[in-house]
Amino acid sequence: MKHIIIGTAGHVDHGKTMLVKALTGIDTDRLREEKERGISIELGFASLELPGNLQAGIVDVPGHERFIKNMLAGVGGIDMVILVIAADEGIMPQTREHLDIIQLLQVNKGVVAVTKSDLVDDEWMDLVEEDIKEFLAPTPLAAAPLIKVSALTGSGLGELKSALAREAAGLTPRSSAGRARLPVDRVFTVTGFGTVVTGTLLAGRMHIGDQVEIIPDKITSRIRSLQVHGQKSEFAEAGQRVAVNITGVEVEQIERGSVVAAPGILKPSFRLDVKLTLLESAPRPLRQRARVRLYLSTAELLGRVILLDREELKPGETTYVQLRLEKHAVAAKGDRFVIRTYSPMLTIGGGTIIDPAPKKHRLGQKDIIGSLATREKGTPPEIVRQHLELAGAKPVTELDLIKATGYSRDEIISALKALEASREAKGIPADNQNLYVSRAIYDSWKQTLGALLSAYHREHSLREGYPREEIRSRYFHHFSAKLFPALLNEMEREGLIKVYAQTVALPDHLPEPDPELAARLIQLENTFLENLFMPPAWPEACRMYGLDESAGQEVLQYFLRLNKLVKIADNLYLHSEAITRARQSVLDYLKEHGEISIGEARDVLSTSRKFTLPLLEYFDRERTTRRVGDLRVPGRAAEINSK
Ligand code: GDP
Ligand code: MG
Repeated sequence: MKHIIIGTAGHVDHGKTMLVKALTGIDTDRLREEKERGISIELGFASLELPGNLQAGIVDVPGHERFIKNMLAGVGGIDMVILVIAADEGIMPQTREHLDIIQLLQVNKGVVAVTKSDLVDDEWMDLVEEDIKEFLAPTPLAAAPLIKVSALTGSGLGELKSALAREAAGLTPRSSAGRARLPVDRVFTVTGFGTVVTGTLLAGRMHIGDQVEIIPDKITSRIRSLQVHGQKSEFAEAGQRVAVNITGVEVEQIERGSVVAAPGILKPSFRLDVKLTLLESAPRPLRQRARVRLYLSTAELLGRVILLDREELKPGETTYVQLRLEKHAVAAKGDRFVIRTYSPMLTIGGGTIIDPAPKKHRLGQKDIIGSLATREKGTPPEIVRQHLELAGAKPVTELDLIKATGYSRDEIISALKALEASREAKGIPADNQNLYVSRAIYDSWKQTLGALLSAYHREHSLREGYPREEIRSRYFHHFSAKLFPALLNEMEREGLIKVYAQTVALPDHLPEPDPELAARLIQLENTFLENLFMPPAWPEACRMYGLDESAGQEVLQYFLRLNKLVKIADNLYLHSEAITRARQSVLDYLKEHGEISIGEARDVLSTSRKFTLPLLEYFDRERTTRRVGDLRVPGRAAEINSK
């Protein structure tokens, strides 16, 4: 099941809370004050099952401008939005402000619900729709589906659900891979349990019993129990709404904005380096040291903007700045944030965290801009890892990486070292420089090769190993014939394989027959020794010793490799002992007579004509003899031998 978080957004009284109730049956206005005043003040939570195996947590936010702060605490973790616009009023100030916030937080998916459709006629509705389309055209929600609904009559609700499901299907699920991080949006006590915090799990997983750290105060605690979307659960995954019961912590020690996280991953900091955009709609430029309110996940913090490369930031401009805060912030690289003016409170901008715990920069310290720009793309190890992942099975060199990333050789080398240490990259020493692949690829190769070889050895137990070139061309064609030995040598160094001149084997593989076969092979060899110059043809020998054709081939290759048998012509094999003796006899004869005919050779070796000619041709090839007409005279090898 895919888990997503949907947030509402829109002007006060446009029907957000009633729509959530109509969709889920849950009234998210729980406070007495909310009931009395008829408006949402706090965040409300509900859950909704959508077609396509989707479990959505819904965060209902207050629309009133006085409670934007609460709205901001709620939208930090959302994946998509329902932008609620009442048909009778159309676009209003907080419709705009909420949409600005949604954009600053990079929530780029959503559905527009035109509510209270029961209150207007078709003509009016058409006008409102026109307006909304024009309003959304320059925003990421330009293509968002626009659904007319009435929470009162229930019309359009089914359509809204399918539209939500459709949009949600396109979301990439949050990764549970990283370490757990849960910004707290509510804290309360449950009698008999103690302190409970709730929030959206932004990354990682949480299990009952896990040690956690509550930051910025660095309180350590343990998870006693967990609820996901209101149901008891053993664990929670990224993207879920979670309630966590933690041990040994008082409610007073935690507040909205604290973060519950796996210990040791987040560093509280008074400073943040960020990329900041001032909205076009900001009323005036942002000046050096301007005091602002920072909204980061569920936290609200006061601080000042330190401009580095300019005197002021004009509406619509983007640059790198340092934020100096009055309290500790807890952030991770890539987190999004919003800023508002100190007073009056207006949403004026936002951006991305580049460095969550930087050194102090001076006002106007221009030279830092370049390194922040590089940092924004990622740290060298992150960037290098991306490149290795992209390269897949194709090994890359340091030089490839320098060219691809623009980093210096030193930076690349230290990034690679770090990635090797964290087992994310693997270096393979080659002739003049190392080759690198992602560790996952290398491990998969080890597995492939291990499985390949053990299957091969099972099938061809008498063979030394798998032919190297065949392995390369079938499974490792990303390696050139020149570079492949480097990979094999590295795997041999790690003890995974044994590398021979032509083949590769598992280190414990012995190309030997089992005892039963060994006994038969001794007899078979003896047959060749006993009939040195009149041995049986190979198929015949196989029949004698009960070897079928493929076993016979295996044995033949085995004998040839051990140099027990020598091939003198197609389907003609002699024992190497026969070759040695024949060579000696021929040489002796030549010494005495200077030349030898086929008939003389046949008599000397007391063999048949069938073997004589191939044997002499074999000696011609190894230059023991040289053919002159129908006769043989001593060859080069013979002359060298006799010198
Ligand atoms: P919110 O501030 O956006 O959460 O708005 P509420 O859901 O609290 O609704 C505000 C008011 O509008 C309430 O009085 C609702 O009864 C009314 N309302 C909400 N949805 C509809 C609707 O579809 N049709 C009509 N006629 N009234 C609605
Ligand atoms: Mg409401």
